[in-house]
Parts: sequence; structure tokens; C-alpha cells
Amino acid sequence: MEKALQGVILQFKEMYEDRVKSLLKDDHALKAADLETLKMQLLKAPSSLSSVISRQISTQQTMAAMREVGEAFNPLRTEAIETFELLENKKRLLIEAENEMYDLTLPLPAQDSGYLHPTTQVIRELNSFFRYHGYSVYEGPEIETAEYNFRKLNLPENHPATDQQESLFIMQPDILLRTHTSSVEARALTNLEPPIRLVVPGKCFRNETLSKTNSSFFYQYQGVVVDKGITLKHLKATLEQAHKFLFGEDTVLRFRYKYYPEVSPGMGVDMKCKFCDGVGCDVCKGRGWLEMLGSGMIHYNTLKMCGIDPEEYTGFAFGMGLDRQVMQKFAVSDIRKLYGGGVVYQ
Ligand SMILES: [Zn+2]
Repeated sequence: MEKALQGVILQFKEMYEDRVKSLLKDDHALKAADLETLKMQLLKAPSSLSSVISRQISTQQTMAAMREVGEAFNPLRTEAIETFELLENKKRLLIEAENEMYDLTLPLPAQDSGYLHPTTQVIRELNSFFRYHGYSVYEGPEIETAEYNFRKLNLPENHPATDQQESLFIMQPDILLRTHTSSVEARALTNLEPPIRLVVPGKCFRNETLSKTNSSFFYQYQGVVVDKGITLKHLKATLEQAHKFLFGEDTVLRFRYKYYPEVSPGMGVDMKCKFCDGVGCDVCKGRGWLEMLGSGMIHYNTLKMCGIDPEEYTGFAFGMGLDRQVMQKFAVSDIRKLYGGGVVYQ
């Protein structure tokens, strides 16, 4: 056999073994391999090694020479054709199996993972009501000075009301956990120029014994309006609208005179009990009404101490015990359930 022809057959053999036969043992390479191009280079195209060899065979001088080359090359060629067939089938199966696999990177469908705490829901509802009516949502510190918690609110030192509240002091006698959100009202009145219209949702702290209706910390929702010509009429209308927004149109409020040192006159506001519709039940302690909040016209002295001219401006303020609002709205009968770890509130 001529040397040149032997060289081409060797080339065919090497290429087949290195680039085709090796794929039988390597699935990863097989998936990436371009079998069609390899097949063209090795077997099919007119310029392929196989075609070159076939043409050379046909130019051999004698039948014996042709047979010799054929016997050397044909088994190799047949093996190559069969290997390509095997590889093509295997590749198809690999790709099919891959498409059937789960894609673990796909995001799962959305699931309900929880709800906002009832108190947060009520705060947001009230915020949206008051924002709509032109109020700003204001915040203040939970650790407060006696100055803002008492003095500026018409509660001088040794005033009996400062004692009533059973405050929790951080450092006596001046630094304490705020006992009401009125402290933020004092800050706002001191720092802002009228007209003022704001609400303050926030946590307050008192030295209370834990019971069904009392807790050592609780939420208040404070409202403050100061402008020229503000009267009780504005206060009543605001509270009525806010409660109807929160509890429904059939909500009934009752206003009665009540003493609060920081306002004059002061009004206690009761809502007809939603549990018993005014008949009397456990929640309203048989009274048919629930005390919801304290309110009133901001005291002359409070305005003055906060640097607002009480001859020019008047204003109202209210402070809701937010937990009661939440308990009424969600029919929760025990305040402890709002702050426990459980998710069942009834
Ligand atoms: Zn009731």
C-alpha cells in the first residue's frame, strides 16, 4: 500500500478515535458536540477523509491492491458509521431527560404567608383617613422628659395627675417612658407654627397590672389641630367621621364632659358597644358603652407654654386608646391576646 494512502487511513483512524469514539464515555461532551459536522468531515462530504480514501482505492492498479486497502479501511468505516448512530441516539435521550427535569430555580407561586397585626391595620386605616383630611403623621421619642410628658401639658410638678398615671421612670425625676402620646403633641406645638394638623400613632407605657383590658404598654393615637377659629364643633365632627370610617356608618358616639388637665373643656367619648349593640355584655362590663378616647380643646396654658398665642389661635386634641379600637373592630375580648405570641385573637 502506498505511504500516502496509509497516512490518510491513519488520519481517519485518529480522528475517529479521538473525536468520535471518545464521546461514548463522556455524556457532557456528547451533549455539546456537533455530531453532524463531525460526520460530514469524517464520512459524508466529498472532501471528507472517507471520500478521499474511497477515491484512492478506485485508482489502485490491481484488484489485489484494491482489496488490500479495502480490507484495511472498510471495517474502520463501518465501525465509525455504527458509532455515529449510537451517539445520535444517546444524545437525543440525554436531551429528552434534561427537559423532563424540574427547574429548581423557578420561583414558586405566591402564597399567603401572614397578615399585618390588627393594631398595625387600624393605625394604617386611621392614617389614611387623616391624611385624606390634610393631616400629617408625626412621631416622637418613647423615652421622654418630664418637661414634654407633663409640664408643657399643663401638669406642673406635684400636680395630682402626674401621680395618677403611675409612670415608669428611666431616671427620676425627669426621664421616663412616655405615658401618653400627648408628649408628642407638646413637642409639635413647641416646634411647629400654626396652622397645625397632625396625628401621632405610638406606644405608651404605664405601671399597670396586666389584665383583660389593661397592659403596661399600649398604643395611643393622638390628633392635634391648631388654627384660627377652631371650635368643639370641629372636634366632634372629626371624631364622628373617623369612627364611622373605622367601624361603619351605624357607629354611635356619645360625648360627655370629662376633666383632663391638658384640655379645657375636656370630653370623654364613648362608642355604643359593638358586641351587644348597647344592651350590655362582658366586654362593656354591662354598660352598653365603651370609653374610646379623651379629647378637648387644648388648654390656654398648654398653648402658651408651647409658645403659641392662645389669644390668636385655638385648637383641639384627642388621644385614643388604640387597643380598644382594635379590640372592638376585630372582636378581641382580651388585650393580652394582642401582645402574646399567638395568632388567634378571638
Ligand atoms: Zn357590650
